[in-house]
Amino acid sequence: MPLSADTTTAAASAPPAAAFSGVTKTYRNGVSALGPIDLVIGKGEFVSLLGPSGCGKSTALRLIAGLSEPTAGVVDVAGASHNGPRSVGFVFQEPTLMPWASVRDNVALPLRLHREANARRHPRVDEALDRVGLSDFADVYPRELSGGMKMRVSLARALVTDPDILLMDEPFAALDEITRFRLNDDLLDVWRRLRKTVVFVTHSVFESVYLSQRVVVMTPRPGRISAEFTIASDEVRDETFRTSVQYGAQCRDVSAALAAAAKGAGWRASCRPG
Ligand code: ADP
Ligand code: MG
Repeated sequence: MPLSADTTTAAASAPPAAAFSGVTKTYRNGVSALGPIDLVIGKGEFVSLLGPSGCGKSTALRLIAGLSEPTAGVVDVAGASHNGPRSVGFVFQEPTLMPWASVRDNVALPLRLHREANARRHPRVDEALDRVGLSDFADVYPRELSGGMKMRVSLARALVTDPDILLMDEPFAALDEITRFRLNDDLLDVWRRLRKTVVFVTHSVFESVYLSQRVVVMTPRPGRISAEFTIASDEVRDETFRTSVQYGAQCRDVSAALAAAAKGAGWRASCRPG
């Protein structure tokens, strides 16, 4: 059954965490970056935005975070009034850690910015470090950490305020494949335990299919949604899933949609477990 761009089975059954309605974004220099797009992201859903460079993926995340305003249309985020603060955590491709501060102090930064008293001793800092497996590294400095561990710190920092939505902008793109696979599994573990809404930007087909409940494929200039795929929701995501026929078939379909999107030829499709 083809899915329309503005609703999906997953999103329609849950109250939305975020919703784009007729959203466009044109930057001041005249670049038409996005839209119009309509997209409903369900609470607790794991959605990937997949598309070639320049198709507006980062712009879409910034609109959800309230760091940028749409030129037209509305981005509704649950629990936030128009222009009000949004409960989001952001993870970027670069871990952007403060080199002079310990892991604990880096993770505590958002609490400090929220003027929490004694932020570095806040129980949420220990909780966040524990969730990413870094409890034993609280007192070390970023220079002592591998790339994968730095990314874990960045994830802990995004989790420390207990945000409703986790926005992840190509977080694992610079990591080697083995580290990336481990972080994929750890992220899924965090998602399963916390059931946060995750909007994950990637240009890796394999990563998007492995992680997501839904993959949204975007076309460039302006960024539009050209296809959506519902991925097997009840599958345990592990090495067996990664080598399964079903995973391979889903990757092939998403790949074809991405290739079409890159050529600017939009098409819609749905992909269900066979
Ligand atoms: P993606 O994350 O998919 O690579 P972006 O959202 O970063 O895409 O960018 C979409 C388009 O908007 C690109 O053509 C980019 O050059 C342009 N763009 C992004 N940010 C700005 C900005 N602040 N000012 C002007 N143009 C921008
Ligand atoms: Mg980007």
